[in-house]
Amino acid sequence: MEKEEKSKFQICPSCHIGYDINNTNLFDHILKCDGRPDIITTRFYTKKQFYKLKSPPPIVIEPYERPVTR
Ligand SMILES: [Zn+2]
Repeated sequence: MEKEEKSKFQICPSCHIGYDINNTNLFDHILKCDGRPDIITTRFYTKKQFYKLKSPPPIVIEPYERPVTR
């Protein structure tokens, strides 16, 4: 008798979408996952990944001396 694999909430490392899925089906999904850019949905990232993705390039303001005469 084969034990039924229990599904749980897991996040695909490629498309970052959470699925209520068992391990076998998740591995099958990862193999054919292309990031799924066609779906607009909630995506899960680690804090590090998210800020790397969203942070704009830093703005550097160069200090300069004020002119003596105007
Ligand atoms: Zn995926």
